[in-house]
Amino acid sequence: MKIPFLSFDTTNREIKKEITEAFDRFFDSQWYILGEQVGQFEQAYARFNNADHCVGISNGLDALHLCLRVLGIGPGDEVIIPANTYIATLLAVSYVGGTPVLVEPKIGTYNIDSAGIEAAITAKTKAIMPVHLYGQSCEMEEIMDIATRHGLFVVEDNAQAQGAAFNGKLTGSFGDCNGTSFYPGKNLGALGDAGAVTTNDPGYCDKLRMLRNYGSKKKYYNEAIGYNMRLDELQAAMLLVKLKYLEKWTRERQQIAGWYDSALRGIGDLVLPVVAPGATHVYHLYVIRTKSRDQLQDFLAKQGIGTLIHYPLPPHLQEAYSHLGLKKGDFPITEEIAETVLSIPLWPGMQQGNVEEVATAIRSFFNTQK
Ligand SMILES: *Cc1c(COP(=O)(O)O)cnc(C)c1O
Repeated sequence: MKIPFLSFDTTNREIKKEITEAFDRFFDSQWYILGEQVGQFEQAYARFNNADHCVGISNGLDALHLCLRVLGIGPGDEVIIPANTYIATLLAVSYVGGTPVLVEPKIGTYNIDSAGIEAAITAKTKAIMPVHLYGQSCEMEEIMDIATRHGLFVVEDNAQAQGAAFNGKLTGSFGDCNGTSFYPGKNLGALGDAGAVTTNDPGYCDKLRMLRNYGSKKKYYNEAIGYNMRLDELQAAMLLVKLKYLEKWTRERQQIAGWYDSALRGIGDLVLPVVAPGATHVYHLYVIRTKSRDQLQDFLAKQGIGTLIHYPLPPHLQEAYSHLGLKKGDFPITEEIAETVLSIPLWPGMQQGNVEEVATAIRSFFNTQK
């Protein structure tokens, strides 16, 4: 690939020395589970996210699962989720025995439509799980207002949007308990699986620490049927290094997105990302839309440009969720998004020349279409 979809070349070079030193410290400490690195990372991430507490968890999916578990959501409870999301958001609800209730996104921002949330609320609804998809914050003031009026919990899925904000307040600091992922390709990525929960409630924080560690607060004494869902000490050491760079890398992502915005305006039927008033976008992904998506993707691949589709098959059409009894046509906006979106290369360190090259290839594709 001439221009890969994602590359760690620049960022890895930038931090290699610090990473090696952090590894040595971790290795020499001879403490490999729930040690100082996890504690320090939790404090640093809580500060970054402007949340009172952060609890390191094994990965993003486990983090979302534990959020729902701690809030007491279980069988018979409905949880409102965007229809246009990654499957993990639904899986978390299924793990606690709850029922995911899907709501269409706005076609402009791809994020959940607040009007649809109101309409989906029933006597069984217990929580709303907004997903800040592709890196753009949902319209959190409206969502929090709906939650307050109906007495619902809010669990943000902040896996794609670390550092994004709505009206100046950071995503991951609105909800009761919020999950995030440090999967390597996320804006803050570990060198393996990792995740966290952020919360402002000390009670939830205590319970999360207990549940992630076999249901135990005191070694060998178990008060609940817990899990082994701890953040690795090694990953915490790596994340402590990378967190220092997150704001710089986010600014780079936003600059690259700005270059794409100017270079791609007015080409064919291309739809570019739209940021809602009050929202910020940290461009985990730069997602464009066209009716000729599959042809464009093939064309770009032949030119050595890597792209991905987030996501080709929406959750309601996945075999795993056939028991919900939903069919094609039930969520037309979500389905249209799945048929037309394409994520193009974006990673910190990408140069304006790379962006121009991608834009030139896209332009020449639409010229051959005429
Ligand atoms: C990545 C992701 C997750 C899951 O995170 P993992 O760390 O891979 O388990 C959940 N929700 C969304 C929206 C994601 O992008």
